[in-house]
Amino acid sequence: MIVMKFGGTSVQDGSAMKRVLEIVGREKDRSPVVVLSAIAGATNALLKLGDVAVTGSTRAAQEILSELVTRHRWILFDLGLPKDKEREVATAIARHAEELENFVRGIVLLKELSARTQDTLVSYGERLSTLLFEAAAAARGLPVVNVDARNLIVTDQRFGKARPQRELLAGRVREILGPLLAEGRLPVTEGFIGATKDGVTTTLGRGGSDYTAALLGEALGAEEIQIWTDVDGMLTADHRVVPEGMKIRELSFAEAAELATFGAKVLHPSTIEPAVARDIPVRILNSLRPDSRGTTITARSRRTGVAVKSIAAKKGATMVHVHSLGMLMAHGFLKSMFEVFDRHQVSVDLVATSEVSVSLTVDQTAGLDEIVSELSRFSEVKV
Ligand code: ADP
Ligand code: ASP
Ligand code: MG
Repeated sequence: MIVMKFGGTSVQDGSAMKRVLEIVGREKDRSPVVVLSAIAGATNALLKLGDVAVTGSTRAAQEILSELVTRHRWILFDLGLPKDKEREVATAIARHAEELENFVRGIVLLKELSARTQDTLVSYGERLSTLLFEAAAAARGLPVVNVDARNLIVTDQRFGKARPQRELLAGRVREILGPLLAEGRLPVTEGFIGATKDGVTTTLGRGGSDYTAALLGEALGAEEIQIWTDVDGMLTADHRVVPEGMKIRELSFAEAAELATFGAKVLHPSTIEPAVARDIPVRILNSLRPDSRGTTITARSRRTGVAVKSIAAKKGATMVHVHSLGMLMAHGFLKSMFEVFDRHQVSVDLVATSEVSVSLTVDQTAGLDEIVSELSRFSEVKV
């Protein structure tokens, strides 16, 4: 079987969704499981919705909500479903909208938006896109069945960036999706969202649908994990920055993981790990040009004779310079320094070192003040 994940731009309007149906239809003999993102911009809109609601701005919240609902309705009408089906889906959208309205009212009243509530709020993005897709696929005669990702992706309680409970999750996935695949059904589920063991909605962090696809692929021992997006594959640089960037045909897991971690947004950084665990090839493909071969990521990629394959860039990194003459000809300095980062559970991304100084970058600034004060006991520190 294979996992096919479609990102926000791949489902952003009626024609995009129809293209996805074509693509899935072509692969139907390979027992696909389909994972969907929210339509482009929906997650941002839902986050904004929460933000304006918490400031008490009911009007602004209503505007955002009504625009979001309208966009989904438009897609529905664009899909050209049989009238009774269309009515049924329109009712379902209205029900979701009403729930969202209630949420907003609650947030406005309480003037409080916890990470937990925010996760439930943004989960509507993926739930709405999946609802539309399921209806369209069924109308095309595909044996589709909508499986709520919250029954599959079991996570911890770290709302906003929940960590999947891999063992539990694998059991659930096999138990629920296994029989459906065996019957020749086509499961479709939401990317990005999951739930705790007790059923509280969580999310895997921005761009997390790729991760969902990889987790499902790992649990089911997929033959391939396909990440369908709006570019031809992993490029030599982000085309928004370097328009003449070229597609890379093959990459190793290690290379892709490195690029994803350091800013190649086309792949969520956690996607590679489950694929590595079971040696499953990951392919990045363009839903606008389904016949292009995309990028294939495997354990070992062929040598190409090119020293640098791709350049990634990442914004918002924090740089820490540590300078100490104590490092001169001494040993153990790096160990003491990194122990401080370790104790505060801050992960270090890049490191450059000379005889008397170390420069490093971190992603997260929580805990940094404590780190700096500890480091300052034996070195000069600049952030
Ligand atoms: P999706 O909604 O399909 O998940 P994303 O926006 O998350 O799509 O990822 C695709 C985008 O990633 C591309 O449009 C591109 O701007 C960006 N990107 C950044 N670096 C790279 C890269 N090295 N190769 C390809 N795309 C990249
Ligand atoms: N919809 C989520 C986001 O925008 C997840 C994803 O698209 O992968 O972050
Ligand atoms: Mg993405």
